Amino acid sequence: MACVKLDGKALAMEIREGLARRVATLKERGVTPGLAVILVGNDPASEIYVRNKGIACEKAGMRSETIRMPEETTQEALEEQIRALNADPGIDGILVQLPLPKHLDERRALNAILPEKDADGFHPMNAGKLLAGEETVIPCTPKGCMRLLASADVPLSGKEAVVVGRSNIVGKPMALLLMQAGCTVTVCHSKTRDLAAHVRRADVVVAAVGKPGIITADMLKPGAAVIDVGINRVDGKVTGDVATEAAEVAGWLTPVPGGVGPMTIAMLLENTVEAAERRA
Ligand code: NDP
Repeated sequence: MACVKLDGKALAMEIREGLARRVATLKERGVTPGLAVILVGNDPASEIYVRNKGIACEKAGMRSETIRMPEETTQEALEEQIRALNADPGIDGILVQLPLPKHLDERRALNAILPEKDADGFHPMNAGKLLAGEETVIPCTPKGCMRLLASADVPLSGKEAVVVGRSNIVGKPMALLLMQAGCTVTVCHSKTRDLAAHVRRADVVVAAVGKPGIITADMLKPGAAVIDVGINRVDGKVTGDVATEAAEVAGWLTPVPGGVGPMTIAMLLENTVEAAERRA
């Protein structure tokens, strides 16, 4: 069976068109969804991400605000900025671009965001609701991965899933979402012994490590659905965590770039539009 490419770029475009229509309806009711992004310091990769998020917002007809704060920003100043956005009735979603400079406490900053304006779904209250299976804001990257799987009707119920990576923003929420979808989930990480043995059992593999090519073709079960979250720069080129030869074995595979990345931005817009719809 030929490998099906899970085209995140095309799906994200479709989702963003749908969101633009929802934004137009909201505007007729006097509500313009607004997303505020706080960028602290001068990390070049973060600059690009933030710029892309702003462009995507504006294309959907949303209000986008980028607050740039200097590298030496204090914790107090950052939290004060977050509180000002919490109180701004025109802002539905707040996002603190990670990583923050080392002297700042990421957890405290995320906790300062009002849970209902938490566009990334990283607030502990939203994370807790996800754990409890309650309706909540779902972190954008895992939400986008689930949407990619759904778009191709990849069977999940009763299947074996292996998530490689256990971060709060990708691996852990991804594992919860797959479990909710009926998968039997294994989470692998840097202390896992024999990663290949785990991956080989999986019908669904999600690679969220940040190590180029760590998932090789010979680790995969033929026909597996493989979601490559990794973004790595190798010799100036962006590559994922999954080796390119995986396409010869996998049943479904996300490309990098053009897979999970565009879906993450689409889900960020969706989370913000959903917050605005609740406000309206
Ligand atoms: P983190 O660095 O927070 O987490 C990486 C995870 O990989 C950790 O849990 C770590 O284990 C695990 N790991 C490290 N080495 C190994 C190994 N040899 N075998 C198995 N597991 C290992 O990264 P993120 O979750 O934030 O991101 C992961 C990747 O996804 C990155 O490349 C990032 O750029 C990308 N990303 C892409 C997005 C997109 O939109 N496409 C969005 C967000 C992230 P341990 O916990 O034990 O240290």
